[in-house]
Amino acid sequence: MRTWLLLGLAIVPIWANEIFFPRDLPAPIAANDSTYTDCANAAWPPSDVGEELVPQAPDDELREMINEIDPERIKAIIAKLVSFGTRHTLSTQNSTTRGIGAARDWIASEMRKYAAESEGRMKVTVPGYVQGIANRISFPVLISNVLATVEGTTDPGRVYVITGHYDSRVTDVMNYEDDAPGANDDASGVAVSMELARIVATRKPRATMVFGAVAGEEQGLYGAAFLAQTYRNSSTNVEGMVSNDIIGSSTGDRGQREPYTIRLFAQGPPLTETTQRASQRLQIGGENDSPARELGRFAVEVAANDATEMNIAVIYRLDRFLRGGDHSAFLQQGYAAIRFTEPNENFDHQHQNIRVEDGTQYGDLPEFVDYEYVARVAKVNLVTFWSLANAPGKVQNVTVNASLLGNDSQFSWVKSDSTDVAGYELVWRSTTAPLWTHSLFVGNVGTVTVSLSKDNVIFGIRAVGINGYKSPATYPFPG
Ligand SMILES: [Zn+2]
Repeated sequence: MRTWLLLGLAIVPIWANEIFFPRDLPAPIAANDSTYTDCANAAWPPSDVGEELVPQAPDDELREMINEIDPERIKAIIAKLVSFGTRHTLSTQNSTTRGIGAARDWIASEMRKYAAESEGRMKVTVPGYVQGIANRISFPVLISNVLATVEGTTDPGRVYVITGHYDSRVTDVMNYEDDAPGANDDASGVAVSMELARIVATRKPRATMVFGAVAGEEQGLYGAAFLAQTYRNSSTNVEGMVSNDIIGSSTGDRGQREPYTIRLFAQGPPLTETTQRASQRLQIGGENDSPARELGRFAVEVAANDATEMNIAVIYRLDRFLRGGDHSAFLQQGYAAIRFTEPNENFDHQHQNIRVEDGTQYGDLPEFVDYEYVARVAKVNLVTFWSLANAPGKVQNVTVNASLLGNDSQFSWVKSDSTDVAGYELVWRSTTAPLWTHSLFVGNVGTVTVSLSKDNVIFGIRAVGINGYKSPATYPFPG
């Protein structure tokens, strides 16, 4: 095609564009049934390389697991967590019925019941440490995380972490005596971790999956920071982490309802990058291709579909204004981490003393939780993380050849020696498109050259498993 193009330019240079780039451009991307993405700009540049990307659909085993998610169980978990009165990080740890210690022990005992069905694959641990006096910590206190870890069958060293925080608060963040039900913030997130742990306990993911309930979030992300630091200290390869925090209600403060949407927050350039890598990223326009955003794109591709009944609204920022969450603790350790949060928050039911004022009920009470909605959010988590844990790991050392001027693009990467890998797929999108729009399977190779210009689109490389599962894409840097 290029030869013909050059010949054409030589003969009729004035009309070359009209002859060879007709005005009827390809249809906008994802004018397909799945409405995967609808960015019209993604149709440029016109090209016959590759094909329009078709999102990966859940297989039969995954659909079976999705069907096991039970809103009634989720409701019972949230009710039990609320029954401990307060789960404030500084509340009592000497009672079996009230306070954060009782909540921790109950979560651990439930997780151990799930583990009993796992034929030894799931281990439940309660790692903790004593946090000395610090910001929002007025006396030394034991901070404990409850973790249910399902070891991977073929790639146990690759780890995916899902958390919710089981601590709660009222208006005064230091008040550890009054009831702080925390039904939405964040018993809902803990319920997702627990429900998924129950379902995955009887399955065999290829990589390791961790379902966590962490503490100390409201006082300053203490539990998640301890967990992320522990993984970093042991050089654990955490390839993806998500915090489910405030995922319990589909109704906003103006009564607006969006029961089929979940927000996904994904940070841009990692703050942990070297100065050299950060400036290289700016120079080549890689600001929108952080590992966290590739993880976010992956979630949309695999989990926004008829199996979950959910749309995923990706927000390209770390978190909401004035707010933070446990994913930040993992990002600070250099891990790819994202946050799920309901679409429209109602601040009357977060961080509030339970009271009625001018006819308005305040407080984070179970009556404001939509259990069917939490179940659908659990499905999004399950599909995303099961798909990650059964795909090959992210492709390593992906580079684009930037040593020569040219309109072809050449990529290299480290070819895996795993027999689980069937080959590699090049994906790309317009620089203004939010999600990958095109793909090309290139075989089980470690390098490829395509006749598409790296100047005009953003590329990524991902691995394809023999089971059809695909990894998140890796963004290539010049090398
Ligand atoms: Zn929270």
